[in-house]
Amino acid sequence: MGKVIGIDLGTTNSCVAVTRGDYPVVITNQEGYQTTPSVVAFTKQNERLVGDLAKRQAALNPENTIFSIKRYMGTNHQKKIGSKTFSPQEISAYILMKLKEDAESYLGEEVTDAVITVPAYFNDAQRTATKDAGKIAGLNVIRIINEPTAAALAYGLDNGKPQKILVYDLGGGTFDVSIIEIDDDTIEVLATSGNNRLGGDDFDERICQFLIKEFNESTGINLSKDYVALTRLKEEVENAKKVLSCALSFTINIPFITQVKGVPYHLEYNLTRAKFNELTKDLVDKTLIPVENALKDARLKKEDIDSVILVGGSTRMPIVVDTLRQVMKQEPTRNINPDECVALGAAILGGKLNNQLTPSSRASQILLMDVTPLSLSIETIGGISNRLIERNTTIPTRHSQIFTTASAFQTSVDIKVFQGERKFTRDNKLIGNFRLSGIKKALSGVPQIEVTFDIDANGILSVSAKDLGTGNKQSITITANNTMSDEEIEKAKWEANIFGKKDEEYQKLIDIYNDSVQTLNQYSSYIKAHKKELDKSTYRELKHKTYELKRCISKCKLDKLDTKIINKLSDITTSIKNTYRF
Ligand code: AMP
Repeated sequence: MGKVIGIDLGTTNSCVAVTRGDYPVVITNQEGYQTTPSVVAFTKQNERLVGDLAKRQAALNPENTIFSIKRYMGTNHQKKIGSKTFSPQEISAYILMKLKEDAESYLGEEVTDAVITVPAYFNDAQRTATKDAGKIAGLNVIRIINEPTAAALAYGLDNGKPQKILVYDLGGGTFDVSIIEIDDDTIEVLATSGNNRLGGDDFDERICQFLIKEFNESTGINLSKDYVALTRLKEEVENAKKVLSCALSFTINIPFITQVKGVPYHLEYNLTRAKFNELTKDLVDKTLIPVENALKDARLKKEDIDSVILVGGSTRMPIVVDTLRQVMKQEPTRNINPDECVALGAAILGGKLNNQLTPSSRASQILLMDVTPLSLSIETIGGISNRLIERNTTIPTRHSQIFTTASAFQTSVDIKVFQGERKFTRDNKLIGNFRLSGIKKALSGVPQIEVTFDIDANGILSVSAKDLGTGNKQSITITANNTMSDEEIEKAKWEANIFGKKDEEYQKLIDIYNDSVQTLNQYSSYIKAHKKELDKSTYRELKHKTYELKRCISKCKLDKLDTKIINKLSDITTSIKNTYRF
C-alpha cells in the first residue's frame, strides 16, 4: 500500500494531508494553497473546474457553479447542469479527485487510499454517501472518521497531557461538538452532538438577506431573483464577514450590481461588527444547545473541561469566541490551525492504519475510541422506536435483542431501522427497511427473532435478523434510498473518468490553439522587423503561411473547438516553424 492521505472534505473548503516521518503535513495544492474551495463548475465548453478556478469564475457562471454540496450528502438532491444531472456524491467525487491529484503531484506517486472525515453528527446515509464519493473518485476509503475526533488526534499528538477537551467545530455548513478525553495512550470520545445544517453559510445568508432588504427599501429593486447579483453579493458578504473578524467595520461596495432599464445601480453599505453580531447572535446561540447536550451526555460540568478547542473557519468570528469564553468560563485555545487540524488528524490515522508510523511513536500507539452520534432503533407495535444502540456508544459496537411476532401465524416480519432520539418512529429518520420471511407458523409471541445491529469503525451500520426457530437470516448494510448501489457507483466512476478525459482532450486542443496564436504573433512581428534580411522565397513562403494560419485561427470558435480545424492549425504551425527558425 502506498501513502494514505487524510482528507477533510469540507462544506466550503477541503484540505488534504499526509504523514511524513511520524508527523502529518498539509499538502499544498497545485495553485499553491493549503486549502481548496469545495466548489465545482462546468464551463460553457463543458470543461470541469474544481477549487479556486471554479470559485473565481462563479459570478460569471453562477448557474453552472456548485457550492456547499456537502449540505446535500445523503439526500436525493440532484444538480442539473445542461442536460445532465449530478448527485451530491458525484460532485463531491470531483472535489476528491482534485485533492487526490494534488496529493499525487506532491508525493510523486499514485495515491489510492484515504481516510476521509465527516461531521460527527452525520447520519448513516451521509456517511455512506461520503464513502461512495470516495469510491467514485477512485479512492479506497479505508476509514471514515469524525471531524472533531480527527482534530483531537492532531491536538492530542502535541498536547499529550491527560485532559478533557471540548472540540467546538463550526465549519461552512455544519456544526459539531465533541467532548473528548485524552489520556497517555487513548483518545476517547465521551459524547458528541451537533447540527448538520448550521455553519458559516448561514451567517453569510443572514447578512445577504439583510442587505437585499436594505437595497429594496432604498431602490425598490428586488435582488433576490437576480442570480448574478446574488452570487456577487454572497462573495462580497463572505469577504466582509472575514474582514470583520479582525476589523470593526467594513464597507461592502458592489458597483453595477444590477441595472433597470439601462440605469445601473450600485450597492454600498458600511457593515459594523456590532451590526453583524446583532444580526447573527441567534445562530451562535443555536450552537450552545448541542454544547449543553454533549456535556450532559458525557456526564460532565463545564468546569470539568480543561481546554476548549476551536475547529473550522467560522470559529474565527469574534462573536463565537466571545460567546464561548462567557459560557465555558475559560479562554478557548488558539494553538491549533482551525482549517488544517482535521486533515492532519485524518492523515495521522491513515499513517497508523497503514503501519506507516514508527511503532514506538506516540501517534502509532494512541488508541482512538469514537462514538456513534445518534441512537439506532427498530420500529415495534404502535410506531414505537425500540432502541438497540444508544447515542454516544463507543464504536465499533454490536448489539442484539430478541423480538417476536405481533399476530398469530405470521410468517414474515418487516424490520424498519430508524436513527434519532425521539420516542416515536414518525419523528425519527427511516434509514433502512427489510423483510425477514420464512418464519415458522406459530401463535403470536412464540417465534424468537434476533435482531443485531453492528456499527463498524466508520460509523456505518449493518443490521441482521434471524429466526432462531428456523435459523433463517436476512441482513443489510443500511442503504437508504438516497445512497447508491454498487452499479450506480461504478457508472458514476466511469463517467467521472470519461469527463476527466474529455477535459484532458479539450486541454490538448486549447494548448495547440494557444501555440498557434503565439507562433502567429511571433512570426508576424519577426517578418515585419526582418523583411530585408530574409531571402525572397522564405519571406514569401512565411508571409503566405502566416496568412493561412491567421485565417484558420479566425475560424476557431473557442467555446466549440473543432478537432479538424485544430489539426490544420497544428500542421500550419509546424510547417512555419520548420520553414524558418529564429
Ligand atoms: P471550513 O468548512 O472549516 O473550511 O470553514 C469555512 C467557513 O469558515 C466559511 O463559512 C468561511 O466563510 C468561514 N471563515 C473562514 N475564515 C473566516 C474568518 N476569518 N472569519 C469568519 N469566518 C471565516
